[in-house]
Amino acid sequence: LFITFEGIDGAGKSSHIEAAAQALREQGHEVVMSREPGGTPLAEALRELFLHRPMDALTEALLVFAARRDHLATVIEPALQRGCTVLCDRFTDATFAYQGAGRGFDLAVLSQLEAWVQQGRQPDMTLWFDVPPAVAAQRRAAARAADRLEAEDLAFFERVRSGYEARRAADPGRVRCIDSGQSLEAVRAAVLALVQPLQP
Ligand code: C5P
Repeated sequence: LFITFEGIDGAGKSSHIEAAAQALREQGHEVVMSREPGGTPLAEALRELFLHRPMDALTEALLVFAARRDHLATVIEPALQRGCTVLCDRFTDATFAYQGAGRGFDLAVLSQLEAWVQQGRQPDMTLWFDVPPAVAAQRRAAARAADRLEAEDLAFFERVRSGYEARRAADPGRVRCIDSGQSLEAVRAAVLALVQPLQP
């Protein structure tokens, strides 16, 4: 099984991945955890370039998909072949939400890159942690000092959020929305309710 975790910065997804992994291990899954952009030495190097060097939108999209290609070929696909359950913090929905809806990059080009790079591979389930951007901004301010996106305004995250909503609407069986504005305990319960029934 391939399960991805999505949401705007500060939505709280990263805090819940470990709880999901633990629940899945208790169900007998062999869990492999990873993240994007990144997940391999090459993809982590590309992540550093992507996060810290100014670049145009097409370069950004190509770098994210180049990193994804390496990650799929060397980590995700081999782990799925071995029968592992792969949990990934962000995947292609983030590209559609951030580069597409957020920065206005051509969605048709992103779809072509997705088809080339993924060769039909899609997550079996995506947990989208949805929260109003104003709430996420308060959490980010509490958690992080300097981040390249701190300067981005709420309007940007509204667009990213609507990008995630569009991905959910296009594939509601895969993309499951979790109300991440609730308490940590309630969000955790919602995560466990989704992953506990999954068989290895
Ligand atoms: O999820 P994580 O915190 O590791 O993401 C690092 C940064 O990269 C975040 O600020 C996120 O908003 C940004 N990002 C992006 N486009 C993506 C994925 C992440 O701008 N496709």
